[in-house]
Amino acid sequence: MNEVFVFGAGASTSLAFGLPLGNGLVWDYHLSCTSMKEIKNGVPDLTEDNERFADFRNFLILMGNTYPELKYLVREFDKRGSVMFTPFINRKQYFADDVLQKLQEQENQEGISLVKKLIFQHIYGVSVGKDKPYKNFIENVMLNKKDSIAIISFNFDCLLTDYFENSLENGIYFDYLLKFDQISIDGYKKYKNQIPLIKLHGSLDWGICGECKQTQLSFFREYSTECICGGTIEPYIFVPHQELDKRISLLWSRATEVLKNAQKVTIVGYSFPDYDQKSLELFKNSLSADVNLEIVDYCETNRNEEQEKLYLMKKYRKMFPHIKQDINIYLKGFKQYLNEYNN
Ligand SMILES: [Zn+2]
Repeated sequence: MNEVFVFGAGASTSLAFGLPLGNGLVWDYHLSCTSMKEIKNGVPDLTEDNERFADFRNFLILMGNTYPELKYLVREFDKRGSVMFTPFINRKQYFADDVLQKLQEQENQEGISLVKKLIFQHIYGVSVGKDKPYKNFIENVMLNKKDSIAIISFNFDCLLTDYFENSLENGIYFDYLLKFDQISIDGYKKYKNQIPLIKLHGSLDWGICGECKQTQLSFFREYSTECICGGTIEPYIFVPHQELDKRISLLWSRATEVLKNAQKVTIVGYSFPDYDQKSLELFKNSLSADVNLEIVDYCETNRNEEQEKLYLMKKYRKMFPHIKQDINIYLKGFKQYLNEYNN
């Protein structure tokens, strides 16, 4: 594989902010998905909002029970009125992945299920109706290079494969490199010479049964569906720190292989956050000294682009001191990058 694209949360939107990950995941669900409330008799009508965010409220109660210092959150939520609920969560111990780890230690299966459900609802909620930033990617890049590229993604969302049906007409087929026990997406199995799409944190169209551990590829609309064995199929997604099962570990090995053989690696909207050491290790151990490394990101308008470039240059040099070539930093966003991409 000659060229590898790596997608982080910032790649799933053409705007500066990406899909929620890190501190925003689950916590910003209300903030990113609520809508305007009607005013009835001078007060905002929260009936619909309360219904829609009932699980979220349960999550806040769970957080209060797990971390007593967060007991105030559910009261704040209940007092929100017509404003969006914006808890200020920046301590790593409250990030969704650490919360899951803690619940795992406490063997609180119900809690784990609730947090995962919120992850699903949050990402599903922000993905629906988004413009399709990947349309250009498929048309400008993949059509020309389909035999020589691979994609590694840290995103759970399916924005790239939402374009799947249209891309079939163009001769673009993705392969998750994962053996599913059941596949209910037409067209997925039929084609050869597919482009590897390696999703290291799982995907919202992957499901796994808690009982029989069978995996399923499907367009899931609900958080959980019933398995033929009577068990429940839940999203097959992982957050950093979570222990990976064998099948997903295999995907990480495939990613290593693909990165080792790459002549060019373009990292879009992923910034190697401190909490994701496993991903950093993957790249440290896999990128060859001769690789042409390119970073595509978005510089917010209130920041100085040149300074940001220098900062990132230093950061990447420090992370990957063995790379011989210059590291290219592009900060005008993925959309603009694709417009200029013409080789
Ligand atoms: Zn089952």
